[in-house]
Amino acid sequence: MSFNNKTALELGQMIKNREISSVELTRAFIDNIEKTDKDINAFITVDAEGALKTAEDVQARIDAGEHLSALAGVPMAIKDNICTKGMLTSCGSKMLYNFKPPYNATVADRLYSAGAVVLGKLNMDEFAMGGSTETSYFGAARNPWDTERVTGGSSGGSAASVASGEAVYSLGSDTGGSIRQPCSFCGVSGIKPTYGAVSRYGLVAFASSLDQIGPIGRDIKDCAQVLSIISGHDAKDSTSIKTASLDFGGCFEGDIKGMTIGVPVNYFGDGLDEDVKEPVLKAIDTFKSLGANITELEIKITDYAIPTYYVLACAEASSNLSRYDGIKYGYRRKDCENLLDVYYTSRSDAFGMEVKRRIMLGSFVLSSGYYDAYYNKALKVRRLIKNSFDDAFEKCDMIISPVAPTVAYKIGENSSDPLKMYLGDIYTVSVNLAGIPGVSIPCGFGANNMPVGMQLIGKSFSEPKLVKAAAAFQNATDFHKMQNKYMKGGRA
Ligand code: GLN
Repeated sequence: MSFNNKTALELGQMIKNREISSVELTRAFIDNIEKTDKDINAFITVDAEGALKTAEDVQARIDAGEHLSALAGVPMAIKDNICTKGMLTSCGSKMLYNFKPPYNATVADRLYSAGAVVLGKLNMDEFAMGGSTETSYFGAARNPWDTERVTGGSSGGSAASVASGEAVYSLGSDTGGSIRQPCSFCGVSGIKPTYGAVSRYGLVAFASSLDQIGPIGRDIKDCAQVLSIISGHDAKDSTSIKTASLDFGGCFEGDIKGMTIGVPVNYFGDGLDEDVKEPVLKAIDTFKSLGANITELEIKITDYAIPTYYVLACAEASSNLSRYDGIKYGYRRKDCENLLDVYYTSRSDAFGMEVKRRIMLGSFVLSSGYYDAYYNKALKVRRLIKNSFDDAFEKCDMIISPVAPTVAYKIGENSSDPLKMYLGDIYTVSVNLAGIPGVSIPCGFGANNMPVGMQLIGKSFSEPKLVKAAAAFQNATDFHKMQNKYMKGGRA
C-alpha cells in the first residue's frame, strides 16, 4: 500500500481508526528511505531501530485508549541542528561529526509527547548557512523533482524528505528563509513562525535573534497541526514569548471574503525571473476570485534587507561559533603542540569555507573600528524594516510575495559565487529581521517544470490568519498534490 498521497492528518486518522498500525506505517517509510535516499541524500542519520521501537510504544498507548495527538504514530524527521538525545546532531558539519546531545530540544520533547515517530535526522547546509544544502559536510541533498538540482536550503533535507515521500512531515529552521525557500524549490508547504513563538532550546544557534524552528509538510494543515504542538511558552528559552500554543481551530475551512492582501510592487520588479513571477501573479488572481481584496503597496526599505541581514547574521554567528574550540564539542585535531594550536587547527580542519567566510565577516563588523559603521547601522536599518512592515499591516491583513527569485538551480551552478547565493534570499530575510511569520506554499511551476512557491507574510502571531488564507488557496487548487516521480512511486 502506498501512503504517498496521504497527509499526516489523514494518516493519523487512519491509525486512530485501526486501518493501519504505526509500526506498519513506520516500516513502510523506512523501506522507502532505503530505496530512495541514495538518490536524494535527505538524511544524515536514519534511526530505523529507534523509530520502530517508538512506533511500538505509541501504538500500545493508542491501543490502551490514550489520546496523544492527531499526529500520534505518524513518522517524521528532524533537521540535524535540533538536539535529539543520544542521536547524532551534526549540523551538517565535520565539527560536530560525533556530537550526540545528552538532552532533547524542547520541540523534540513536545513531539515525542504527542506520539511522533522520529525516523532520523536531516541534511542541511553547514550550521544552517546557505541556501542550497550544498555546504553540508555529508554531501549535497538532491531535489526529488530533478536530482541534478539543489533542494534549496538550509533545510534542504527537511523539504526533500517530505517531497520524496521519505517522511510525512519534518522540522526545519529558518534564520533568513531556510524553511520557506526549500519548500518553494521542492513543492511542499512550510511555516516560519513569529520570533519567540517556538522554543529555541536545543536548536544549535546560528544567529540567535533571527533563528526559529518551524514545520514542513505536504499541505498547510499538516504544518499548522505540527506548529500547534511545538509552539507555546518554554521557560528554558529566555526569548520564548509567554503565550499559549498557537491555535488553528476554524482555520482550515471557511472563506477569506473581505481579507485584504497587500502586494508589494517593488518585490515584482528587476531580479525576479518571469517563470516565477507568473505563477505568483496567478495566485493573486486566485485569492481575488476567493473574495480577498487586493491592494498594492511599496516596502522600499526591504531593498536593504540583504546587507542588513548578512551583517547581523554573520556578527551573531561569529560569536555563537566561538564555542567550537576543539575542546568542548566534536572534532579535535590530534598531535597539537599547545592549546592555541588545538583551537586553531581544529577550527581550520573542521569548518567549511562558507562558515569560515561568515566568521571572518562577522568578526570584522564587530571589530572596534567598524562596529558603528556596520553592526550598529544594520541594527538601525533592522528597526526601519520592522516599522515599514508595521505600516503595511495598517493597510492589509497580510502580504503576498515570491519566496525566491528563481526555481531550483543545478547543483554547483552558484556554489562558487556566494554573493549570487545571498541575493537569492531577497524576499525572505526581511521577515526574520522583523520577527514576523511567513508561510511558503506551492503555487505553480516554472522553467523545467520545477515547483514555484509563494509567500504570505503577516504581523506577529497572525499565523492562524496566514494558515486560513493558505488553506483556502490549497482547498481551491492542486499544486500541493502534484507529485514528482518518487512520490508517484516511479523509482520505488
Ligand atoms: N540563506 C540564508 C543564509 O545563508 C538563510 C539561512 C537560514 O535561514 N538558516 O544565511
